[in-house]
Amino acid sequence: MLIVPEREISNLMTRDAAFEAVEKAFAAMASEDAYNFPVIREAIGHEDALYGFKGGFDRAGLTLGLKAGGYWPHNLEKRGEINHQSTVFLFDPDTGKAKAMVGGNLLTALRTAAASSVSIKHLARKDAKVLGMIGAGHQATFQLRAALETHRFKKVIGWNFHPDMLPNIEKVANEAGVPFEAVDLPSMRDADVIISITSAFAPSLMADHVSPGTHVACMGTDTKGKQEVEAALLARASVFTDEVAQSISIGEAQHAIAEGLIKESDVAQLGAVINGTHKGRASDDEITLFDGTGVGLQDLAVAASVVDLAVAKGIAIEVDF
Ligand code: NAD
Repeated sequence: MLIVPEREISNLMTRDAAFEAVEKAFAAMASEDAYNFPVIREAIGHEDALYGFKGGFDRAGLTLGLKAGGYWPHNLEKRGEINHQSTVFLFDPDTGKAKAMVGGNLLTALRTAAASSVSIKHLARKDAKVLGMIGAGHQATFQLRAALETHRFKKVIGWNFHPDMLPNIEKVANEAGVPFEAVDLPSMRDADVIISITSAFAPSLMADHVSPGTHVACMGTDTKGKQEVEAALLARASVFTDEVAQSISIGEAQHAIAEGLIKESDVAQLGAVINGTHKGRASDDEITLFDGTGVGLQDLAVAASVVDLAVAKGIAIEVDF
């Protein structure tokens, strides 16, 4: 069995490799070559932790496995460890034998950033110039970096519930040589693409804050009850997602579905656009919305990619298991 420790991931995994792995995983899901297993997420009654498993099987890429991990809210203050902890386990689909164990923390951030970037590539207008960011926490910096590498934006505008955090994303924009401006929410009307990545349980972005032709990537809502955008926005938009079952139950679409504003059949897979079986954006005036809920196959895809890179560089640790 091969081990790729967390400490090696930053030297191995590139944003390009993450983008390619996630794009392929979404495509395989839409062509039914790959599927996700039901997600398990438990409050374990210890350290206030939420722990669970996200797994799946990609018959096309022959990737089988799961990500185990979750959220330990006291890690940082008590032990100086980060609160989100995860590990990916890959298995040989021919034999069931354990194949690899891979640190999953940085990979989770990279695969999430890759998802909104893949949506931008396939759904945003090609002439998009202004990127709007809603959120300025840990994950926002990853989403922004990846988006700026995917599309040549001329300006970044940002809003955050906690304005003191905005320098986190201003720094990323500056590093990429793109001007940044802090704005209020109605000014998101100036954006051609908007990424929301917050832990909010009530909408910030309202339907009338979004101009025709905008692509919105909603990345923060991955649990029942969370919400970043007004449900009416989904009724106005063409809605795409990584996985429809997650979108309507734990994603942003849960609210529009509950309010009867859209139906399950209104939510399309981004993978179908990648495969060319869905036309994607239909006009320059259409609002497209990607509901990125985060699926196990994304984790497996980036983990398999990093194992290949580790083997090629002679970094993977081989153990007799
Ligand atoms: P973080 O704690 O570093 O940042 C949280 C962000 O949410 C900050 O910008 C904060 O100001 C904002 N926020 C907090 N309360 C808010 C409120 N009431 N209204 C509006 N904004 C509010 O967290 P993070 O690591 O950046 O993660 C952000 C979110 O992304 C979390 O909800 C996390 O679960 C989710 N996430 C989703 C995926 C996925 O695949 N879809 C993957 C990783 C993380």
